[in-house]
Amino acid sequence: MRGLDVLISGGSMGGLFTGIALERSGHQPTIYERSAGALKSRGGGIVAQQNIRQFLSNHDIVDPGDITTRSHERRFLTESGGVERAVSETMVFTSWDALYRQLRDAFPDEQYRTGTEVTEVTPETATVTIDDGTERTADVVVAAEGGQSTTRAQLHPNVEPEFASYVAWRGVVDEAALPATCVEAFDGTFTFYQGADQLILAYFIPGPDGETESGSRRLNWVWYDTLDGRDRGAIFTDSSETERTFSVSPGRLREPIHHRQRERAATLPPVFETLVGETSDLFVQAIYDLTVPSMVTDRVCLLGDGAFVARPHTAAGTSKAAGDATALADAIVSHESVNEALTAWDQTRTEYGTTLVDRGKQMGDVRLNLN
Ligand SMILES: Cc1cc2nc3c(=O)[nH]c(=O)nc-3n(C[C@H](O)[C@H](O)[C@H](O)COP(=O)(O)OP(=O)(O)OC[C@H]3O[C@@H](n4cnc5c(N)ncnc54)[C@H](O)[C@@H]3O)c2cc1C
Repeated sequence: MRGLDVLISGGSMGGLFTGIALERSGHQPTIYERSAGALKSRGGGIVAQQNIRQFLSNHDIVDPGDITTRSHERRFLTESGGVERAVSETMVFTSWDALYRQLRDAFPDEQYRTGTEVTEVTPETATVTIDDGTERTADVVVAAEGGQSTTRAQLHPNVEPEFASYVAWRGVVDEAALPATCVEAFDGTFTFYQGADQLILAYFIPGPDGETESGSRRLNWVWYDTLDGRDRGAIFTDSSETERTFSVSPGRLREPIHHRQRERAATLPPVFETLVGETSDLFVQAIYDLTVPSMVTDRVCLLGDGAFVARPHTAAGTSKAAGDATALADAIVSHESVNEALTAWDQTRTEYGTTLVDRGKQMGDVRLNLN
């Protein structure tokens, strides 16, 4: 099949992967993104799994080497800062903003509508209603709307994200702003410290404009921590006194919350304590699990985080969105009808998503000692 009219709700990673994959296979995708301007990173680093790099090369978007950094060792520190264990392993990282910019540039502007929110879908006819009240009908609708997808809520009203009882504190620091000892300690490694009920890791990612050379990169860290007796509502109430459900963005954390977490950094190995101390804007995300029973309802597909959210330990969120998109384009090319293609896609990707979420639960609960 070629020339299908596909409406995509959501213009972040999942929407862009899908739009590019479909456009390059001869279809006519249009992306509706509710944010008005260019999207801004919520923090930082992404593991550039092989399928993401392949997507960039196969579609001639960018040489993945131009927007990635590498580590060659996975290193575990002791509490006092010694090396407990080191395993030789190459990992490839990028930043959310570097990847988003490349994908956005690769998709035609005239087919990317910003400031446009999809408010309702009619699955039987592949119709979307937009926030100005207009309706558009296509061959297929793809909802790549992220973890708080309203289309998912419409199609699966009983499916709710489940809080995993711990959070991820995060931060990004310019390499140039870090003490030399700190840069040296993290350079070329994917570094971890596993405590009794916490886990912190760090790796270098490209600089704010995608710079990959030493001196211009950024150091990205993620610190999983239990609530440690604290009130979740208090942590997630931001500086405008609004209680957020899933995350408080950089610059929005209230000072006492910032202060308390910085103090808790004294329980980390010294090099991580320094890194957290050098971070001007900590931010926090709730860790949660989300699973839908099926990704397809008639002509509507749920894709990326809109369907499954696996814990970040799997390092698979963006990679799964790329995999969903590539598999959808392949299924449409290799089947005789839209319904057959969507049924086949649903089966394989729902199975994959379900397995991934389960794996994330196991990894997280063991690492945070929650069992
Ligand atoms: C602005 C932004 C910054 C991010 N920064 C990071 C980061 O730094 N590090 C990281 O690991 N992950 C980040 N993420 C999350 C990451 O992109 C996802 O976890 C993963 O890549 C899966 O992407 P997704 O497209 O499925 O979902 P998301 O990336 O969550 O994208 C969903 C998109 O859909 C749009 N949308 C939602 N509902 C509607 C609607 N009804 N109509 C139209 N549009 C709608 C949202 O505005 C959003 O752009 C970020 C996401 C966003 C949106």
